[in-house]
Amino acid sequence: MPEEVWRDRCGQVASCSPRGSELLLGFETQNFCTEDSVGKGLRVRGQCLCGRVAFEIAGKIPSLYQCHCSLCRKQSGAASSTATIVASANFRWLSGQELVSSWIKETGFRSDFCSNCGAPVPNPLRNLPYVWVPAGLLEEGKDLAIRMQLFVGSKAAWDQMPLCGVVYETSPELREFVLLLHRTEGC
Ligand SMILES: [Zn+2]
Ligand SMILES: [Zn+2]
Repeated sequence: MPEEVWRDRCGQVASCSPRGSELLLGFETQNFCTEDSVGKGLRVRGQCLCGRVAFEIAGKIPSLYQCHCSLCRKQSGAASSTATIVASANFRWLSGQELVSSWIKETGFRSDFCSNCGAPVPNPLRNLPYVWVPAGLLEEGKDLAIRMQLFVGSKAAWDQMPLCGVVYETSPELREFVLLLHRTEGC
């Protein structure tokens, strides 16, 4: 998949084909953050740099991925963005939602950030029942692992291997991407 296509899909917003939405909606209830783990009271909090934007995720957090594409590099200010995708039902804002600003590229790539400190914050995955969550905001992570490396084919020259997880020159299809993140095994 060329980078330009993934830019519309890269953990961010953008147009999504109806077929893609159906696929995602179709498997949403099979697995993921199950009622069991929610019922056991698993909760992980996350917050921005200044702490005014805060959120909470219920249940087991899916695996992480890193995206090395040119947009994610600029959005994160680093070699790659590191994030996960959680079911909307398991995500809730605790504070500061009114401080969240959005920048949306014409291709649909979206970056949400705290207007007070500039840190990237979660944003909805298009019109799908998922939320993109930057991993660096999470306050716990001992059970988390990076499962996928995306757009390694366009990484920065100074972005060094080895990388953890399955390496993609570009990216898997969206459905496969979300499913892989929600499998239980680690890196
Ligand atoms: Zn902030
Ligand atoms: Zn990216």
